[in-house]
Amino acid sequence: MSVLEKSFTFAGRGPGSRHEVLNLSFGDPAARPHVHIQGGLHADEGPGMMTARILADFLTQAEAEARLRGHVTVVPFANPLGLSQFLHGDHSGRFDLYDGRNFNRDYPDLTEEVARRVASRLGDNGAENVRLIREALVAALAEKRPIGPADTLRHHLMGLALAADVVLDLHCDGEAEMHLYTQPAAVERLAPLAALLGCRAVLVAEISGGNPFDEALGGPWAALAARFSGRPIPLGCATCTVELRGRSDVSRTLGSKDAAAILDYLVHLGVIEGAIDLPEALCEPTPLAGSEALSAPVAGLLSYAVELGTHVAPGDVVAEIIDLVSGQVTSVAASTSGIFYARPATRIAEVGKRLGKIAGTAAFRHGPLLSP
Ligand SMILES: [Zn+2]
Repeated sequence: MSVLEKSFTFAGRGPGSRHEVLNLSFGDPAARPHVHIQGGLHADEGPGMMTARILADFLTQAEAEARLRGHVTVVPFANPLGLSQFLHGDHSGRFDLYDGRNFNRDYPDLTEEVARRVASRLGDNGAENVRLIREALVAALAEKRPIGPADTLRHHLMGLALAADVVLDLHCDGEAEMHLYTQPAAVERLAPLAALLGCRAVLVAEISGGNPFDEALGGPWAALAARFSGRPIPLGCATCTVELRGRSDVSRTLGSKDAAAILDYLVHLGVIEGAIDLPEALCEPTPLAGSEALSAPVAGLLSYAVELGTHVAPGDVVAEIIDLVSGQVTSVAASTSGIFYARPATRIAEVGKRLGKIAGTAAFRHGPLLSP
């Protein structure tokens, strides 16, 4: 079977403009497991697009060798709307410049509609319940009528991923170690991916706030399992957001390495024929609510006292901010213990600037857990 390419075209914001999303399909579309992978939902994050693009080449090769046992779909660039946004010569792809909304928030929560559809139909057969819920999810999404290009894009991307067994949404941070975000029910299924990619942090939250893409897909399963606790409801869709290091970590070398790790994960899942040895995990999962986000108490020039990947303890100085008028140095210290795994790519701090994240083991935060 050859690679199936489907493209979806939708109207842009202004008159006369259009955008296109490409969906590449490998293997029998009816086969399971189905793994869906997308890059560039935040359109100014290159690593995911590079990895997805190279992964598509690897999958084309695997398909030519008749090694596909399951189904893989790849969206190499998920956000053509964001790809077309520029501000004063710089690419701007995280927020919709029209209204400031983050492209990875505000996905529809289909839990209530699906619960209504399946309440009287769920039985004692877990596999049959998964089938019913998938069917109801697809039907509930089909009834939505998105208005405008950003919500049309959200609706389309969600539709591509909704019935998949595993979904990988490829992103990056400013500067970062490899890490990923997932939900409690999906940790076990995604642990092999984290090990293969060499993740230094795996951050877990049931609900992180704002309904990002991965949680809109995985969330209903956990919510339905809790609501209908007398019925077996296995996790039908294990999802995660992979942060492929930092914004500048874009190269064919890194893209090939990360695509090879994902390909190995597909072998591990039985989607591709073969056998692999799983490496040792480099970290244990930690609660997203335990991830400390350092912020700048004053404005000034930013200088880091520790490198990314360092294990810091409470009281350790992570960053210093130098006042431009007085030269006074303000230290910013960790208050938790864990791996310093992400920081911004810029070194001029305004008051309140996010200075970095530390993967602490004890949950202490409440409310929205993600950056804006
Ligand atoms: Zn992102």
